[in-house]
Amino acid sequence: MNTQEYIKIEEQYGAHNYHPLDVVITKAEGVWVWDVDGKKYLDCLAAYSAVNQGHCHPRIVNVLKEQAEKVTLTSRAFRNDQLPLLCKELCELTGYKMMLPMNSGAEAVETALKAARKWGYKVKGVEEGKAEIIACTNNFSGRTISIISFSTEEQYKDGYAPFTPGFKVVEYGNAEQLEKAITPNTVAFLVEPIQGEGGVIVPAEGFLKKAYDICKKNKVLFIADEIQSGLGRSGKMFAYEYEEVRPDVVIIGKALSGGCYPVSAVLSDKEVLGVFNPGDHGSTFGGNPLGAAVARESLKVLVEEELIEKSFELGNYFREKLREIKTKHVKEIRGKGLFIGVELYPEAGGARRFCEALMKRGILCKETHTHVIRFAPPLVITKAEIDWAMDSIGEVLLAD
Ligand SMILES: *Cc1c(COP(=O)(O)O)cnc(C)c1O
Repeated sequence: MNTQEYIKIEEQYGAHNYHPLDVVITKAEGVWVWDVDGKKYLDCLAAYSAVNQGHCHPRIVNVLKEQAEKVTLTSRAFRNDQLPLLCKELCELTGYKMMLPMNSGAEAVETALKAARKWGYKVKGVEEGKAEIIACTNNFSGRTISIISFSTEEQYKDGYAPFTPGFKVVEYGNAEQLEKAITPNTVAFLVEPIQGEGGVIVPAEGFLKKAYDICKKNKVLFIADEIQSGLGRSGKMFAYEYEEVRPDVVIIGKALSGGCYPVSAVLSDKEVLGVFNPGDHGSTFGGNPLGAAVARESLKVLVEEELIEKSFELGNYFREKLREIKTKHVKEIRGKGLFIGVELYPEAGGARRFCEALMKRGILCKETHTHVIRFAPPLVITKAEIDWAMDSIGEVLLAD
């Protein structure tokens, strides 16, 4: 079957909750993917940063295969020999004392919100039913009903009411608004240190530190959603490391899987995750040995192949090269590490047509928020590959 035939079937039988580029991928390796017609592309999205380690990383695939032949699922009714090691290795790597495993990012965010509320009632002493959590404008933390309840994106909420109460929203990057919004019932502030789906938005320098200090002063948990910005994407293990903060809770997912098998986790300390007692919260697949083994190897690859350092250096290089393209379309180039957003002027007519033109030249990226092209290739990309891509990116951005 060819590209058009696959697309026709998917359009007929699959719900239309996405608008993908018309490329049907059948094979991938490192930064490269191949479509069913045999055409090769450089992947500059990396599955929204879930494949930071590169597609089908041989070490991760090997562990996946080996573990698949041993034991894949025990449920948490029994123990397995992979989860304890993932807990220990993840905590040692990140400096947190406890973790709680889930599967998708949204589930881990839900877990953090539940932990924060319970912490509010059991530890902070907030009156039952009154807990408030503050989020930011332009946030993206997943698609569950509770999470979209604090979304500021009309489309994410349209048709899904009634929403979960207990959330407030303050302007992203505005510490004064945060301080004003806090009441004695506030239990947590949820923030992406760099907003991904929002358009690769880096807040003004000092915002995270200010917000963190305000949280500390008011006994409010500072929760960093690092599902997309974490695990090397920003050029640091976590994007919050660019400022002097140590979040009370860190949420990770995406690249924890190496792109192979969904795994997410909430990292914190005993004061917060200790609020959960047996039966309070759970997931059938959360902490399963297949996912745990894959996550352990994904973390090892990230560290041993020095992908975080690579992301930092090559990210600077990538932005430098982008800045050399003198085009009327580009309003701003921003980001940290290989987490890059190119915002176009509205007159450019939206980022989608540029993504389509790049696709024709063998580069896959996806527009975000209409006017932003996001460049976030797997962190295993080389300088030579960036140079190769830059020729096409230049041609596309310089065209009318
Ligand atoms: C992708 C993402 C999520 C949701 O993860 P899913 O695995 O899609 O549920 C949450 N927060 C951020 C910042 C994300 O980028």
